[in-house]
Amino acid sequence: MQLYKNQTLKVHNSLSGKKEVFQPINEGHIGMYVCGPTVYSNVHLGNCRTFMSFDMIFRYFKHLGFKVRYVRNITDAGHLENDADDGEDKIAKKAKLEQIEPMEVVQRYTVDFHNTLQKFNFLPPSIEPTATGHIIEQIEIIKEILEKGYAYEANGSVYFDVLKFNESNEYGKLSGRKLEDMIANTRELTAQDEKRNPQDFALWKKAEPQHIMRWPSPWGDGFPGWHLECTAMSTKYLGEAFDIHGGGMDLKFPHHECEIAQAEASKGKSPVKYWLHANMLTLNGKKMSKSTGNNIYPSEIFTGENDILSKAYAPSAVRFFMMQAHYTSILDLSDDALLASEKGYNRLMDGMENLKNLSTGTKSDFDINTWRQKCYDAMNDDFNTPILIAHLFDAVKHINLIKEGKESITEEDKTLLLNTLNTFVYDVIGLENQSTVKDDSNALGGVMDLLIELRNQARANKDFATSDQIRDKLTALGIQLKDGKDGTSFSIN
Ligand SMILES: [Zn+2]
Repeated sequence: MQLYKNQTLKVHNSLSGKKEVFQPINEGHIGMYVCGPTVYSNVHLGNCRTFMSFDMIFRYFKHLGFKVRYVRNITDAGHLENDADDGEDKIAKKAKLEQIEPMEVVQRYTVDFHNTLQKFNFLPPSIEPTATGHIIEQIEIIKEILEKGYAYEANGSVYFDVLKFNESNEYGKLSGRKLEDMIANTRELTAQDEKRNPQDFALWKKAEPQHIMRWPSPWGDGFPGWHLECTAMSTKYLGEAFDIHGGGMDLKFPHHECEIAQAEASKGKSPVKYWLHANMLTLNGKKMSKSTGNNIYPSEIFTGENDILSKAYAPSAVRFFMMQAHYTSILDLSDDALLASEKGYNRLMDGMENLKNLSTGTKSDFDINTWRQKCYDAMNDDFNTPILIAHLFDAVKHINLIKEGKESITEEDKTLLLNTLNTFVYDVIGLENQSTVKDDSNALGGVMDLLIELRNQARANKDFATSDQIRDKLTALGIQLKDGKDGTSFSIN
């Protein structure tokens, strides 16, 4: 029997603002669509957190025995600067800047995206469709919306008529915005504007002669609006009704609101049953932003090469840090928080290692079945990974007591405990057992201290050939040295 038959799962649906009992449209099957990256730059850690939240959700559904079709797209055209209807295409702009083809930009950053996610031990989605691969489907939806009278053509572009749509539908229901407020807060249109109203959004944009990324359409050469690709690809692969649509909180408006409007205008109803939104990652208490420099990339965390870090961190320690927060809460990243998470991660790994070597007895002082259901209850409550992790540490506490001879466990319970820990730690929250930097009490720490000291002596003697040799040989062994204001530290890849 499938596990899901014994578990009642609740999810926070952004559309109702409530936790709802999760009931899939087709029993035993789940269709899930998550908005993927716009591949015009290296993926940053905040995006990784969003995708990691849905990776964890995907993993839990699979563990429960659901057949999951998980679609996560790649935006490789149509996403304009500032998420607006005017301005340059983000990918075309980068291509111009680097003097390469837009598809080279797409390839470069898609590869980076996949490599980074692989380091974090993500499972690949079932389908990863691209916007440029679905231009025909997008044109078909525009035709339908035009036929239904919710869009209009202007000078080779097609715009969605938000005011007309709002007469019969509710624009703003996902983000909780009212159209009247939006109208009151926007500027007047100028004579050059093609839109009837500032709230209208582009379904198709006419390509100016210099625009490289262009496709033929009934309205002339152009390219699709950003919101349209997700409506086209989600319904193509998941059907006109599917279970979950996810994405970052910042996509609620306008992106997801526009997706709902497009679907209701073309098909009469939105395909999505549950909208799930992952919250953002802040850095040292402030919003991450490229322009202010308050920003960090995954590669910088893995190497320790960022001023805010005292050392490098293994991907699994970072993943553990992310999983210690609920996916709908804001999470703040700092060096202190990472240090604490790394300690916790190591304690968990040590506990699991200790469990394997425990000797067993005739009775158990620890009720494994009750504990196990608590782990499920945490995950069933809108994927509450921080509560789950608290239960995992409760098990570690008992493992240590058994190791010290203060408690005992039967062989049968030991196997159940090991299997349950393996399930939640490796299969569900997706950690790997990676060697991370431990305290200096172990032999490696002592050897490294010695090497760092010898390197410092060499540098003090201006013997840079030797100091470089030490560093390079260590790098070749996968050990990175990092010089900081409090001395030199190291990390193992
Ligand atoms: Zn999307």
